[in-house]
Amino acid sequence: MTAEITGGACLCGAVRFEVTGPLVTVVHCHCTMCRRAHGAAFVSWAAMPEAQVRVTAGSEQIEHYRSSDIGTRSFCRTCGSSMFCTLDTHSGTIDVALGCLRRGAPLEPKAHIFWDDRADWVELADGLPRLGGKTGLEPV
Ligand SMILES: [Zn+2]
Ligand SMILES: [Zn+2]
Repeated sequence: MTAEITGGACLCGAVRFEVTGPLVTVVHCHCTMCRRAHGAAFVSWAAMPEAQVRVTAGSEQIEHYRSSDIGTRSFCRTCGSSMFCTLDTHSGTIDVALGCLRRGAPLEPKAHIFWDDRADWVELADGLPRLGGKTGLEPV
């Protein structure tokens, strides 16, 4: 059986990447850092084993920003698309911003995280669990 490959790219197209295998661990993150980094209401991420994410073009275009004591965000230096996030506490795992993937990848989001930090104009009724509190991952 061949593993499914999903392609992704930044806005200008300079950076291209492939994700191999099913996107299983998918969450919507409402933390203030994600919101500001992406200029968005919230950010949808798939946590993937690092070995299953491969940059196929434009790796020299990727800039890294240390956004917290443990987090690093990676974006295209030309267009600013934020594509990846890694946490020192989860080595071997890379979070992929789903907004940069091409359409059609089968996804089953699992939860909203950092729900307490959400933009106060965000209203959602998708029935997914909402996690928050200090860690952003506790039931609210
Ligand atoms: Zn770009
Ligand atoms: Zn976040």
